[in-house]
Amino acid sequence: MTDINVTRSTFDEVMVQVFAPANFVPDRARGSRIWDTDGKDYIDFAGGIAVTALGHAHPELLKVLQEQGEKLWHIGNGYTNAPVLRLAKRLTDLTFADRAFFANSGAEANEAALKLARRYAIEKFGPEKIEIISFTQSFHGRTFFTVSVGGQPKYAEGFGPQPQGIKHLPYNDLAQAREAIGANTCAVIVEPIQGEGGVLPADPAFLKGLREACDQHGALLIFDEVQTGVGRTGSLYAYMQYGVTPDILTTAKALGNGFPIGAMLTTDDIAAHFKVGVHGTTYGGNPLGASIAEKVVELISDPKLLEGVTQRSEAIKAHLARINERFSLFKEIRGTGLLIGAELADAYKDRAKDVLNAAAANGVIMLIAGPNVLRFAPSLIMPMADLDEGFTRIERAIAEVVGEAVAAR
Ligand SMILES: *Cc1c(COP(=O)(O)O)cnc(C)c1O
Repeated sequence: MTDINVTRSTFDEVMVQVFAPANFVPDRARGSRIWDTDGKDYIDFAGGIAVTALGHAHPELLKVLQEQGEKLWHIGNGYTNAPVLRLAKRLTDLTFADRAFFANSGAEANEAALKLARRYAIEKFGPEKIEIISFTQSFHGRTFFTVSVGGQPKYAEGFGPQPQGIKHLPYNDLAQAREAIGANTCAVIVEPIQGEGGVLPADPAFLKGLREACDQHGALLIFDEVQTGVGRTGSLYAYMQYGVTPDILTTAKALGNGFPIGAMLTTDDIAAHFKVGVHGTTYGGNPLGASIAEKVVELISDPKLLEGVTQRSEAIKAHLARINERFSLFKEIRGTGLLIGAELADAYKDRAKDVLNAAAANGVIMLIAGPNVLRFAPSLIMPMADLDEGFTRIERAIAEVVGEAVAAR
């Protein structure tokens, strides 16, 4: 305890106002339960934005944190360390990749992927091959390169000249993508399920078609699995379910279960274009983060755990369908595994934030994906009793919102 007294209103006094956080302050958590500073409990369907895939305070992660915390936190990139080597071995054994680069966030993993793709294409094919193809509504992070590549212009505008050579096409429109991918295409970057964009899954034929077009023109296919990765969709990475293998994959969010870590995975041939000094990071691959991520990957790659994702996914979809029968609130329920979106019907257009606020009042932490979509990204091991209790509370919250909507008519 310290003698500095803070409340939610302190945020408005001392924090840069890029966020508008909820009016309560989370204080502690276990599993899928969170308590705020007033002691009120919440059931967690947000997972810290698809991050805490093993819930809060997982005993095995606490053990690793404690043990590695006493051994070595940080050493810098003049040295390697055993945890990061073990993590790289695990990730390369479990995926298509031969090599890993570690960073501290999804944006940095994508930044590395985009820089590597440019290096590869320029060195292998020449200075003209720099065009990056991305998709509208996509999200790849908040660095200047990643917001420029991302498909939401409002995040990239107002900062002066943007990185050039980037083209945005409609998601899931294979004909347009085929037409655009050509001799000067360096890379295509795509989320297998657009997370921030509204939980929009790619059509399998779209990803297959992108793979073919990239192969035809010597372009690299980058899968941004920052949100879909580490078990979220019911396989370790979503590409495994689609049966389409990228050249570069980025992963973060759930990789550290809340400890900041991101990774870029790729093949020997492509990785060879990042030589000593070409790219780097101070914290990336530090032993503390790497030891936690290694345990996360070990636990989540267990087939039994992944089966549980499908089971919970079905339970959530059943609850949503039941609620929809009662209230006709949703236009569509979509997504795979524990990345589920429920798009609001026209009568409730742009009211996702109202549902989120009512849910919080009723003791549920929810997530939205844009103004119109409720997003569910809970712990992959959420206890079924919490899941069911959570939906009792969500239903109560929705009854309030719908009641208000009816009363307002
Ligand atoms: C969250 C997210 C990112 C950015 O990750 P940060 O850790 O916030 O930098 C990038 N891509 C996708 C698909 C994401 O969902």
